[in-house]
Amino acid sequence: MFDPVDGLNTGLEELASSVLQSAYSGSISLRPKLREQLNARGEKQAILARTARDTREKTGDNYLVVRASIEFSNYCRQICSYCGMAATNSTLQRYRLNSSQMCKIIQEVSSLGVTDLHLASGEDRSFKAVELVPVIAEAVSAGMEVTLVNGQRSIGDYALWKDAGASRYILKVETTNPEVFKDAKPGADLTQRVSHLLYLRELGFKIGSGVISGLPGQTVDDLVGDLIFLKELKPDMNSVSRFLPNSQSRYANASEGDPDTALNFLSLLRIEMSRPGLRIPAGTSLGRRQIDAFDHGANVVSCT
Ligand code: SF4
Repeated sequence: MFDPVDGLNTGLEELASSVLQSAYSGSISLRPKLREQLNARGEKQAILARTARDTREKTGDNYLVVRASIEFSNYCRQICSYCGMAATNSTLQRYRLNSSQMCKIIQEVSSLGVTDLHLASGEDRSFKAVELVPVIAEAVSAGMEVTLVNGQRSIGDYALWKDAGASRYILKVETTNPEVFKDAKPGADLTQRVSHLLYLRELGFKIGSGVISGLPGQTVDDLVGDLIFLKELKPDMNSVSRFLPNSQSRYANASEGDPDTALNFLSLLRIEMSRPGLRIPAGTSLGRRQIDAFDHGANVVSCT
C-alpha cells in the first residue's frame, strides 16, 4: 500500500527534522503557560478568546473567508487509524470526479461569487496530476485562489500544479508526538511530511498545516509541542480539528476530543502566530461549537 520509493524525497529532510525538534525541546519557558491556557475554562477561557479576537483585529484579519471545497476523490492509499477513507475500509463506496465534472462545478461556484477554492482528495495516486491542470486553470481564470489538499504527492506533481496556478497547499501533520503519529498514520513518515511542507513553500506555495486535538494517546503536553512546532514552521494557514471517532475507522471506539481544548488551541494559534493574513478555519469537527470558533479567533469557513 505505502511505497516509500516513489519520488517523495525532497532533500529537505534534515531541515524538517530540526524544525520538528522545536516540538520537543523549543521554548521551554513558554510551555507551562501554554499548558495552562489549553486547560483554561470559564472566565480564564473567555479572556483567552478575547485576546485572540483582539489579535485578529490588530493584524487586520477581522474578516470571514468563505471557501468552496470540491472533494474530487475519496480513494486513498494511506491507512490512517482515524479516517473512514483509509485504504483498508472495503465497505466505503469510492468515487472520483473527472476534469470536466470539476470544471462544471467551478463555473457554478464562481457564479455565486466565491473566490476561494479547495480541491481536496485522499492520496489517490491513480488520479494523474496532469488531470488537475485544466481544473486549476479554469478556477484561476474565473478569478479564484486555488488551494490543494491532496496529501503527499511526488515533488513533480507539486511543480506541475504550481505552474498551473495553484497558490496554496495544505498538509496537516496531525500530531508531532512520534508515537501518536505512528499509531494514527501507520506507514507515514512525520519528518518526510514536514519536509514536503518546506518543499512546497520553496516552490512558492503558501502552506497550511495543523493538528488533531484529542487523538488517542495524545496529552496536553503534546499539544503544547504542536503549538511550538507550528510557531517555528510559520504556515500561512493553521488549523485544529477535534478528534471524532469515525465508525468505519480503527479508532471507532476511542473517546472523542474535548471541544474546549480544541477551541483554546485555536485561540493560541491566533495569539502565538500573530501576523497579518493568517487564516484559521472553523472546522465542522467542533459540532455545535463550530460557531464558537469565530469567538476564539477563526476567520475561515468551508462549504462543500
Ligand atoms: S486522513 Fe487523508 S491520508 Fe489518511 S486515510 Fe484519510 S484521506 Fe487518506
